[in-house]
Amino acid sequence: GAEQREKQYRAHPGFGDRRGGVISARTYFYADEAKCDQHMETFLRCINASGGSSEDGFSAIKLTALGRPQFLLQFSEVLVKWRRFFHQMAAEQGQAGRAALEMKLEAERLQEALAKLGIATKAESQHWFTGENLGGSGTVDLLDWNSLIDTRTKLSKLLLVPNMQTGQLEPLLSRFTEEEELQMKRMLQRMDVLAKARGASEKGVRLMVDAEQSYFQPAISRLTLEMQRRFNRDQPIIFNTYQCYLKEAYDNVAVDVELSRREGWHFGTKLVRGAYMEQERERAAQIGYEDPINPTYEKTNEMYHRCLDYVLEEIRLRRKASVMVASHNEDTVKFTLRRMMELGIHPSEKKVYFGQLLGMCDQITFPLGE
Ligand SMILES: Cc1cc2nc3c(=O)[nH]c(=O)nc-3n(C[C@H](O)[C@H](O)[C@H](O)COP(=O)(O)OP(=O)(O)OC[C@H]3O[C@@H](n4cnc5c(N)ncnc54)[C@H](O)[C@@H]3O)c2cc1C
Repeated sequence: GAEQREKQYRAHPGFGDRRGGVISARTYFYADEAKCDQHMETFLRCINASGGSSEDGFSAIKLTALGRPQFLLQFSEVLVKWRRFFHQMAAEQGQAGRAALEMKLEAERLQEALAKLGIATKAESQHWFTGENLGGSGTVDLLDWNSLIDTRTKLSKLLLVPNMQTGQLEPLLSRFTEEEELQMKRMLQRMDVLAKARGASEKGVRLMVDAEQSYFQPAISRLTLEMQRRFNRDQPIIFNTYQCYLKEAYDNVAVDVELSRREGWHFGTKLVRGAYMEQERERAAQIGYEDPINPTYEKTNEMYHRCLDYVLEEIRLRRKASVMVASHNEDTVKFTLRRMMELGIHPSEKKVYFGQLLGMCDQITFPLGE
């Protein structure tokens, strides 16, 4: 339920050490801003090395290394509340249960609801939902709705959203102090440096932003998406990571692919199953919110292949997507090769990449290389 979900996005002392049960991913802890600058310099050296050693190199970064994770937590909560509010509005317009992109709110009725709730007068919300913004449809979908949140504007000025439990209006980001705003800005600046002048786009290196814990992930994914918007105009430089052990993975992939289509940029993605399962489950059980992970390994496999198929179809249709199949699973590698054949995607097009962690699965890596 609504109240439960929020618990997921609160810091919890029992889970301050995010290494628990994680064997295949590095964990960064925030010390201070200088340390984040150091991490950025290290990432830059990696990008440099990758650019120097191969024509189409990759480099991976973690956003928790580039700023205070508390910001990612808070921003995630904002994004989730914002999306939930959209779903509640959709339910009120009789659209509960539809797929994420099938929900289309009538702008008129939405404005009336916003006015009734005291969030924004019709005059105020008028310019959010102009015909131009909505492509003349008169309806608002999740992408239109998400576009109202802009990290480049001052976040603390954002709108109020109603807490359906208490009936009270809550500012989305009431707890952001000046210092926190600054920390957020610096994180964005470091991402900028990595993506442009001294970084990936300059060196022709693809920059993969790793996926991390589910309570950071909405923010990480959203910030990555904003980089894709800016840097993936002509080629896929920034790759966003989707963890297919998440129940919401397919919706997330579908919504982001649709955004890339609408805005005309290259969709770059790394698909993984997910590295934090045990920790996620334990945290959800202890704090008391719904487990974000698929109930079984089989469901995760199904989800992986569904997401992958969606992206491969997108490659077939538009040739404007790229995917790194980051997995040690032999069936997944075979599945990918078979679907590439069926869909007429040739390896020489360099739209599909395979990634294994160094030395962890050489029996797959070497034959693939050949
Ligand atoms: C190049 C590369 C980059 C990576 N980057 C990231 C990253 O950015 N973020 C990240 O989180 N991970 C990342 N990983 C790790 C990845 O998510 C997996 O943990 C790891 O690769 C094992 O999954 P697999 O597909 O290789 O193998 P498999 O052995 O087929 O899958 C194991 C995975 O299945 C899932 N699973 C297992 N049991 C269950 C169950 N009972 N219910 C539901 N799901 C279950 C878990 O995700 C588990 O890790 C990366 C891996 C590689 C190779």
